[in-house]
Amino acid sequence: MSHHHLGRTHVRPVGGPSVVVGASMAGLCAARVLSERFDHVVVIDRDKLPNGPEWRHQVPQGRHPHFLLRAGAQHLEWWFPGIVEELEAGGAVDVDVCRDLYWYESGGVMRRPASELHGPAMSRPFLEATVRRRVEALPNVTLLDETVAEGLETDASGTRITGVRLDDGSTIASGLTVDATGRQARSLGWLKTLGYEAPSESVVTVDTRYATRVYRRTELPVRDWKAAAVIGNPDSKRLALALPTEGERWIVTLVGLGGESPPTDEAERLAYAESFESPVIADIMAASEPIGETVAYRFAADQRRHMERMRRFPLGWVPVGDAVCSFNPIYGQGMTTAAQQAAILGTCLDRTGATNRSFSHHYLRAAGRSVSVPWSIAVGRDFAYDGTTGKKPAGTDLVNRYTERVAVAAQHDDAVGIRSNAVAGLVRRPESLLTPAYVFRVLRFARHGPIGPSST
Ligand SMILES: Cc1cc2nc3c(=O)[nH]c(=O)nc-3n(C[C@H](O)[C@H](O)[C@H](O)COP(=O)(O)OP(=O)(O)OC[C@H]3O[C@@H](n4cnc5c(N)ncnc54)[C@H](O)[C@@H]3O)c2cc1C
Repeated sequence: MSHHHLGRTHVRPVGGPSVVVGASMAGLCAARVLSERFDHVVVIDRDKLPNGPEWRHQVPQGRHPHFLLRAGAQHLEWWFPGIVEELEAGGAVDVDVCRDLYWYESGGVMRRPASELHGPAMSRPFLEATVRRRVEALPNVTLLDETVAEGLETDASGTRITGVRLDDGSTIASGLTVDATGRQARSLGWLKTLGYEAPSESVVTVDTRYATRVYRRTELPVRDWKAAAVIGNPDSKRLALALPTEGERWIVTLVGLGGESPPTDEAERLAYAESFESPVIADIMAASEPIGETVAYRFAADQRRHMERMRRFPLGWVPVGDAVCSFNPIYGQGMTTAAQQAAILGTCLDRTGATNRSFSHHYLRAAGRSVSVPWSIAVGRDFAYDGTTGKKPAGTDLVNRYTERVAVAAQHDDAVGIRSNAVAGLVRRPESLLTPAYVFRVLRFARHGPIGPSST
């Protein structure tokens, strides 16, 4: 799927102007795709866009770890050749999620074979600023910050969006308007005043709480990994993550699920980190000097808008990114699925060469469906935690029991771990975990039982 959408199609120009509302990761990827197909792309954002890699008020999650999955890194490299090297030159750390990630789950640490599943680890603001600079450098793209969209203009029939209205009353003409305003999907309210009903939604409440702090990175005594994730058993409702970032830092997050609340006081944080069977996160915290305050974030619910089911929609309008689907962040899927939707946008435009009905229809269907796999991964796993509410997909408990076995088998066998990481990285379909040979391997190795928390 993701390979199919990597953008290697024949580009068909549409021409005319287009507008992207929202200059965060989804909007920037969409702008890159539109720049090849429209004469001019205007990207607007209500926030002040900093010159450097600073977090922004409209994207408060930027202060928390953002892991870029393999599929997302592939899209960015395709659109912005050399960007991974550029990020690494700026201090991002190349992390192979199999070889370089200490991953403790289901009572043991996964084996760490080398794989192709690597990508840069860095702070979210650094990634966004680097991508933003690349987009700004495109000759037919204009970025306007501190610019607030407030509504949509239509043609006389009210069936086609022709522009974006700003809060100062002016308008920007647009043949294709992309809503990249994030989870709120601002344009749905504007469309409502034009008589268009919002798409139906799926909502699964999870109550995920992050408490994040940055530390100066120092060498730990014995370790040959670069990042660590410790997943407590689902009853503990706890997990913790340490990602390396540019500037020789760790970004360390303690997570509580289903009402569990990670503390912000440093001594209590250390105790929380010490509550896991694996000591590695506590070791990192104890060995590193904290920088700045601990910041909290609360994520209430997975939210999916079923764009694929919309029957009435205006022409010249599409949503992308969190506006379509916003996932429990612990699976790291948001930026990558946003990139995948931007790629789909390109594919659909190339099919029609115009922003006609066929284009809208194909895009809404494909983008809406493209989140099915990450949605089922995230929501399915969320139901392993008590207190998760919403529509539980059929077979979830069975899948979660199998996933436990996969996690145990991956403590003994390289091939099991590589493939399950490829699925989590959205480069392989989940069906590949259900082939007879793979299932056999999982069951064979899971029989050895969990190996415990070796810290190397
Ligand atoms: C705690 C946390 C951790 C996460 N971790 C990861 C991770 O590890 N990996 C990962 O891939 N994803 C992660 N995500 C998800 C990721 O942050 C989003 O998926 C990603 O930012 C893409 O979102 P977006 O661009 O669609 O919207 P947003 O990032 O929400 O941006 C929306 C933009 O629209 C602008 N805007 C809104 N309204 C208007 C308006 N009216 N006019 C003009 N501009 C407007 C805003 O200023 C903002 O810049 C995490 C999320 C959270 C909450």
